[in-house]
Amino acid sequence: MEDDTTSLPPGWARVAGRYVERYGNARCVRWSEPLVYVEDGLPWPHQFNDPVLQGFARKAAKTLESTCTECGSVAKRRFCGTGWTVQCAACYGKAALALQIDELLDQAHEETVNPFDGTRVVWPEHELPVLLASCIPSECWRRMVLPVGQAIRYVSREDVRGLTPWFKKLQQVMRG
Ligand SMILES: [Zn+2]
Repeated sequence: MEDDTTSLPPGWARVAGRYVERYGNARCVRWSEPLVYVEDGLPWPHQFNDPVLQGFARKAAKTLESTCTECGSVAKRRFCGTGWTVQCAACYGKAALALQIDELLDQAHEETVNPFDGTRVVWPEHELPVLLASCIPSECWRRMVLPVGQAIRYVSREDVRGLTPWFKKLQQVMRG
């Protein structure tokens, strides 16, 4: 068994550790081997010959299926671009925001600008994910009055490029 509890994400390590301890107490042994491992972002029970031990492992994995990998809160399984993750809404929101910032910065830093080719030159507020838009300081928005008299807010490539250090700092916080 190469995997051990310390290699689990922080939110899971605490919960899995409790099952390891409970099993040790139940059997009056000093048990420290991990009961679960992570594969494809999901928790799986290790296989044991002992049915009681196997039961603890299964229960631990079952509990982790609804435990946030980051903070240990109640969570659900979510599919994010690269695979499965089990996160609560708050932690998932942070991770999603960090990814949205990556995407925005990538678009704003593309070398060639050809609006007819789909390259972004402006981002109207309503086309940005809500959380991402709310991270743009209010003084950085430009206003454009539409012919119908309605005003919309938007940011330009230059604005986004200028905000790069701010966004990078946000990502640092989000990714803790
Ligand atoms: Zn969480």
